[in-house]
Amino acid sequence: MENREKELIENISAVNSDVADAVARAGRKPGEVALMAVSKFHTASDVEILYRAGHRSFGESYMQEALAKQEALAGLDIDWHYIGGLQSKKAKYVSGRFCAIHSVDSAKLANLLNKKANSLGVVQNILIQINTAGEEQKSGVSEEQLPALIEEISDYENLKLTGLMALPPFFGDAEGARPYFARLRMLSEGMEKLFGIKLPELSMGMTGDFRVAIEEGSTMVRVGTRIFGQRPG
Ligand SMILES: *Cc1c(COP(=O)(O)O)cnc(C)c1O
Repeated sequence: MENREKELIENISAVNSDVADAVARAGRKPGEVALMAVSKFHTASDVEILYRAGHRSFGESYMQEALAKQEALAGLDIDWHYIGGLQSKKAKYVSGRFCAIHSVDSAKLANLLNKKANSLGVVQNILIQINTAGEEQKSGVSEEQLPALIEEISDYENLKLTGLMALPPFFGDAEGARPYFARLRMLSEGMEKLFGIKLPELSMGMTGDFRVAIEEGSTMVRVGTRIFGQRPG
């Protein structure tokens, strides 16, 4: 436990300083990029260690696991983010329980999230996940489908669209992801112009490529392995 505490705190400090370094090199302002610690497959106790060390933002990808951790850590002021694929039928369990849901990719899902948020009397922050590389097996909307989805979401009073998210193909080489990050940023700027809206969040960059994502405009990097180590299983 003590060793784990030392390890986690060292890891997150190193990531925080790499993020700050990348922000400075990119000529951006300190504080422009938030670090989300992706705790999927890791324990509630790991999350609690980082929380006690002052970290607040955590990301989870699997609904049951996420809800179990929320319950185990109820009372702590954690900013939970939902970043995993989400089936429409699970929308009602997720809406209203996360500070943002990053993986919205259909009007049907948005509609159900909105209904649930409405019944709870809350406004749920969401991001739209884009399948930037057009990969068949990945969730996310295509660029072509994006305007129609934004239009649809603009009717939902209990959803607030804050930005776009992407999970580009993994190249093992961060430079390979750069064009997809750049593309997401362009797309976001295009949608801001088209709809006259603000999309302040660009959720992009993981352990292997967050430096490049920051250079390309990320406002939120989602880092798991570099903080917690390899995921078990
Ligand atoms: C697991 C996951 C991450 C974290 O990936 P690492 O490579 O471990 O940093 C980030 N984003 C999403 C959507 C994930 O599912």
